Amino acid sequence: MKKSKDEIITYDDLVRKWNDEKKQMIEQTSEDRIYRWNPDGMYNIYENTGKAITDNNPYVNLVDIEEFDLIIENEPYPVAPPPMNKGKNKEKSKSAKFFGLMHKEITGDSMYYIKDQRISMERIENEAKGINIPKPAKEKEKDLLKVKKEIFEYAKSLGFASVGVTKVDRRYVSMGVDDEIIFDTIILLGYEMPKDVMKHYPNPKGELGAFGAYTGCARNVHKVADFIRTKGYDCRARGWDGSIKYSPHAVNAGLGNYSTYGVCVTPEAGTRLKYCSILIDAELPLDKPKDFNIEEFCSRCRMCQKSCPSNSIPKEEKKYKGSIKRQTRFSTCLELMTTQKECLKCVRVCPFSMIGYEQCMESLPQYYMYNLERDELDKGFLLSKKEGEHNE
Ligand code: SF4
Ligand code: SF4
Repeated sequence: MKKSKDEIITYDDLVRKWNDEKKQMIEQTSEDRIYRWNPDGMYNIYENTGKAITDNNPYVNLVDIEEFDLIIENEPYPVAPPPMNKGKNKEKSKSAKFFGLMHKEITGDSMYYIKDQRISMERIENEAKGINIPKPAKEKEKDLLKVKKEIFEYAKSLGFASVGVTKVDRRYVSMGVDDEIIFDTIILLGYEMPKDVMKHYPNPKGELGAFGAYTGCARNVHKVADFIRTKGYDCRARGWDGSIKYSPHAVNAGLGNYSTYGVCVTPEAGTRLKYCSILIDAELPLDKPKDFNIEEFCSRCRMCQKSCPSNSIPKEEKKYKGSIKRQTRFSTCLELMTTQKECLKCVRVCPFSMIGYEQCMESLPQYYMYNLERDELDKGFLLSKKEGEHNE
């Protein structure tokens, strides 16, 4: 059978096209916007002028950051390029095809990511607009501690490794999205990128790390939301589009502490997590921030920063108007993430992600004992303790 024109486009062709697109995107960088892909491979733009958008402000619980200038100042996010082809759908399908081929190379299924994302995101977008929301059961279960426990157990049975409850911090909600955030209590749901997948670079055949975890979120977030409704409470599922910054919320919910590269490190899975969430109309008992001593460990590690092939993780934190920030440089990271079949080296080298919290904490006193310089970690001090368990 004769192949259609679309089928004979190669992955390398798409990488080349994608690089051209990225160049355009970066050239159009603006200081007050973030963008995220949507399931069609196009971009949603979130205007953030006047808002605090950093994934890593360790003092978020201690100071009133409203007083700060709350604009992304470090590495602004690119703006979507103008259409290169005429016609809306042509442009949409081009980026989607890029991911499709990348995923086909790894999983054999070009729709691996897109099909689940599309269904789930459509439902999320509808719910945000108040469309097609399933009705909660008539009777409310009164014992909210029990309700919370049951939600957590159910979410964990679906594969969410980290679950926590906190209040929405609207300083970390993008402008233009506030109206969709109709409840103040948020359940954070972290889906794990499997350790076995992360041990291999590039990804082993059949498996995706980040995109696999996003797919896990897409497949399961509505199941948890529907479960909540059986308890008599209204709720709205939220996705992974960046409109709510999840790292500060995850830290506030006691799931972990900030990492060197700005995401939340959890004791259960390190940085191998992608988050989605559910806004719930119930005063569930809140979880509290906890000190896991992770920032102390990070200060002596910095392996993610040292191993990042595109130098996207800044060596020093940035002091900015009273807060300390670490922010991964988006534009250079994007290059690697999209052309190297999920770089994720920062996750793959993280001892919390690959070796585990207990072992990390056991090794911490040895830094003091030998008064090791931080650069000693470059020589594999920590990883040599678990030789054979890590392929990097
Ligand atoms: S690699 Fe090291 S510095 Fe980076 S997040 Fe993990 S523990 Fe922290
Ligand atoms: S994904 Fe790769 S390029 Fe991006 S920050 Fe992590 S190590 Fe650096």
